[in-house]
Amino acid sequence: MAEIRDAEVTIVGGGAIGCAVAYTLARAGYRDVQVVEQGELAGATSGQAAGLVGQVRASRERCRLAMASVAAYARIEQETGYPADWRPTGSVRIALTAERAAEFTALAAVARSAGLEVEFLTAARLAGLCPMLDTSEITAALWCPTDGYLQPNSLVTAYARAARDRGVTFATRTTVTGLRIAGDAVRGVRTDQGAAATDVVINAAGPWAGAVARLAGLPLPVVPVRHEYFVTRAVAGWHAGLPVLRAPDLRLYARAEGPGILCGGWEADGLSLDPRRVTIGQALAVRPDWEVLSGFAADFARLAPPVTQAEVREVFRGFPAFSPDGRFIVGPVPGLRGFVMAAACNAHGVSGSAGLAEHVLESLQPGPSPYVRSLSPGRYLPQTWDWESARARAEQVYENYYSLPAQPQQAS
Ligand SMILES: Cc1cc2nc3c(=O)[nH]c(=O)nc-3n(C[C@H](O)[C@H](O)[C@H](O)COP(=O)(O)OP(=O)(O)OC[C@H]3O[C@@H](n4cnc5c(N)ncnc54)[C@H](O)[C@@H]3O)c2cc1C
Repeated sequence: MAEIRDAEVTIVGGGAIGCAVAYTLARAGYRDVQVVEQGELAGATSGQAAGLVGQVRASRERCRLAMASVAAYARIEQETGYPADWRPTGSVRIALTAERAAEFTALAAVARSAGLEVEFLTAARLAGLCPMLDTSEITAALWCPTDGYLQPNSLVTAYARAARDRGVTFATRTTVTGLRIAGDAVRGVRTDQGAAATDVVINAAGPWAGAVARLAGLPLPVVPVRHEYFVTRAVAGWHAGLPVLRAPDLRLYARAEGPGILCGGWEADGLSLDPRRVTIGQALAVRPDWEVLSGFAADFARLAPPVTQAEVREVFRGFPAFSPDGRFIVGPVPGLRGFVMAAACNAHGVSGSAGLAEHVLESLQPGPSPYVRSLSPGRYLPQTWDWESARARAEQVYENYYSLPAQPQQAS
């Protein structure tokens, strides 16, 4: 662990986003970067993630972002020498209704327009790829052969080690408690381990990003919403090479975790925290909600009946941060020089970390693309919205993660 020090760029948060940004900036030639993390690297939301990396998205930009991330995970080991434990198993998106099958046709068109290979599986191919599934209810299955999953801890470690090799320092167990602002510019950070001068603060504080923004007097709607999944002990027929599964009609995703089943989902009634009450350094503990988790298992049993009999080995959970419009909040804050957001990942901050970090880099350079500009925190400033509706909309983004196109959509 390094000490807090004066640095040109200070990144607050050592999760997937903070470490990806550190690595990306260092690779782009930034020579004086530090990461400040209140706990351990990947110790908060990122270490709990399922590691799914899905490229089929509702918009071409999101598709391309995810494709860029997949390309990065495939080459990260080669580029850095550190593995992300990326497994390109492919993924199968399963429809149980005709409406959903129609949505898949639209998603496939977006994917192809972005240059992403997808195909509809015949019943025989589906049975060959997923012999552990009961396919009797399935109306369509969309296959993306280049999707897969990774181990989030390995990814964060790979980013951090590669960043360290390029000179980035990491001050762990150090909490940013204040900012030094002079005029219209950030000049430094205050921490529980001392103060440091800095020209640029990048707020990658995950579910605490709203609290860190408040240190600069900025109201930004970064809303933590609970999310959880379970992993079972070994189940016959399940192994690490099976494709990732998404069953939006059941609001579920699943994959093998070794010989066990990993299964998670999107609750119809999301549980969020009031972002105004999330404070610096506050522990955001989540207890497993067995009613919700057994609901996931009961629903998934329609496709994989043994899941309800399997013993649960572990529950992973946390508060990924959502925004009211379901889009990242990325880039410099207008009117406060040197304060940059890298937050509101809407539950794809692990899969999207490489692409999001590229967006942060682009936002710091002259002439960012219209897409990157559209992610600017400026869309929430000055505050013309109210907290209650912002929180309700962010919850809806969570609840409608797998919704049909009439509602706000994510298509993770
Ligand atoms: C159960 C679950 C499953 C998920 N599955 C997936 C998945 O399959 N694929 C996917 O892409 N995403 C998934 N996600 C979402 C993903 O985990 C998040 O989008 C991602 O981890 C966000 O990364 P982050 O770096 O922004 O946040 P975090 O990992 O939370 O990192 C933020 C860091 O900032 C630190 N910090 C906060 N305040 C301060 C401060 N004042 N000073 C210093 N440090 C501070 C925190 O300690 C923390 O380590 C899942 C999330 C959960 C909970």
